Amino acid sequence: MSTPTLKTFAGGCHCGAVRYAVDLDPSNLEASKCNCSICLKTNRISLSVDPDNFRLVSPASRDEVPNYQFASKSQHYLFCDKCGIHCFVNGSYEWEGKVVKNFSINAVTLDADQGLDLRELKLRYWDGKGENWGAGAVEKPPAGGCL
Ligand SMILES: [Zn+2]
Repeated sequence: MSTPTLKTFAGGCHCGAVRYAVDLDPSNLEASKCNCSICLKTNRISLSVDPDNFRLVSPASRDEVPNYQFASKSQHYLFCDKCGIHCFVNGSYEWEGKVVKNFSINAVTLDADQGLDLRELKLRYWDGKGENWGAGAVEKPPAGGCL
């Protein structure tokens, strides 16, 4: 396996209260959407990233970023309480008897004009609404989802 070529991108919420830097390999981005209740209403484009490649720039501590949780509370949806933008998600879930940690940014919170064209993201779609995680992310949005 070749070493990925990482490039640092800046991102954040709309008002600038939440700012981050993230190292991504632009040639290998895992972008997805989901039809679950929160992903649909935020219309989030999830981009999985290695948490070690993510640095919160502002505020100083992640504890200062409001986070929303619901249902099983296994996920933290971190957002800005000034402008309302959901910036990133972290949490964990159990899959086939193992605890899997997940971390993703909302791709639309990456700053514009950094050489990453969101139109070129190869989106895949999860059926979170049907809790059909076993199907993996598929090419077309499952029922209840959107492009
Ligand atoms: Zn904000």
